[in-house]
Amino acid sequence: MIEEQINGNQTEGKDVKDMQDLRKRTFSRQELTELLRSDDPQLLQELFETARKIRDEVQGNKIFAYGFVYFTTYCRNNCNFCYYRKSNGIERYRKSEEEILAISKALIDSGVDLIDLTMGEDPAYHNDGFETLARIVRRIKEEYDTPVMVSPGVVDREIIDKLADAGADFYALYQETHNRELFAKLRVGQDYDERMNAKLYAKEKGMFIEEGLLAGVGEKEEDIADSLLIMGEIGARQVRVMSFIPQEGSPMENCRTPDRLEELKIIALMRLLYPTALIPASLDVDGIGGLKDRINAGANLITSIIPPKSGFMGVAQNTMDVDEGGRTVKEAAAILDEMGLRIAAKDEYRRFLREVK
Ligand code: SF4
Repeated sequence: MIEEQINGNQTEGKDVKDMQDLRKRTFSRQELTELLRSDDPQLLQELFETARKIRDEVQGNKIFAYGFVYFTTYCRNNCNFCYYRKSNGIERYRKSEEEILAISKALIDSGVDLIDLTMGEDPAYHNDGFETLARIVRRIKEEYDTPVMVSPGVVDREIIDKLADAGADFYALYQETHNRELFAKLRVGQDYDERMNAKLYAKEKGMFIEEGLLAGVGEKEEDIADSLLIMGEIGARQVRVMSFIPQEGSPMENCRTPDRLEELKIIALMRLLYPTALIPASLDVDGIGGLKDRINAGANLITSIIPPKSGFMGVAQNTMDVDEGGRTVKEAAAILDEMGLRIAAKDEYRRFLREVK
């Protein structure tokens, strides 16, 4: 069913006016809510097709690729949806500076356009004032000449200054929902405004920001519509959605993962609203098997590429396809090739960041 709606290519005889309506770029909360609620196969097919067309008009057959480096799985927080929450008695790791640089180099050599340095809110990094992370960012920028995204969680302004000065291009920090009540249930004990303000400050400092939402955690369509609109209001350059995956040992362990159509619709609506945004097809939800549907929904970027047998993990699907070599540029490129698409070169990505607003 999803396959047909997403990949279908039969628009003959469709009402052109409907297609143009989907291209109008401004949607009210009510319109977004209705689109999210719709299960009309024809409308959904048009939605995905329009999203793909918009992406192709902006960047042709190029798709960007990010290397994922989850370098410490220690965390001081207890988010209810997360495997790495502090109270979960799991085995954890904290990689050394040299290990982080080595995996970054391997990812760059394999053809990624950016290194995404992600961490749990590890107290060890807070204790060293993020000197280590700033040094790693600087070295990747200077020695490997590659854009860097940092995902350090909520940090003070002086830390954001330090990371911006080190050359970090992106600061990723996801609210997951913009419904404050739901936020409080998901990110237990954390402050909604503090999180939002950290992001806004990073933008003020000249960094690009990434905002994200989690699908299937008790939100209503209206909440998603709010998130979609807020992402634009705060000027996020990259916007992501991931489906919730139940995590062993977490309080939400027995909650169900949502139907993927929800995530795909959100990707398509993001593309309609924000034609030039970076919108990930994350391999961290359904592995490499989920790539095609997400790209066909309008994503323009592959995230969560991890070299096999590196000892580094994913977040939502921490091991899926990793050691088997499924989450590599090579595997992704082969799938894109069948779709008439290709991985962009680093210079093309940089030009996109600079010139396509
Ligand atoms: S989502 Fe991030 S901040 Fe929350 S518990 Fe997991 S690693 Fe920590």
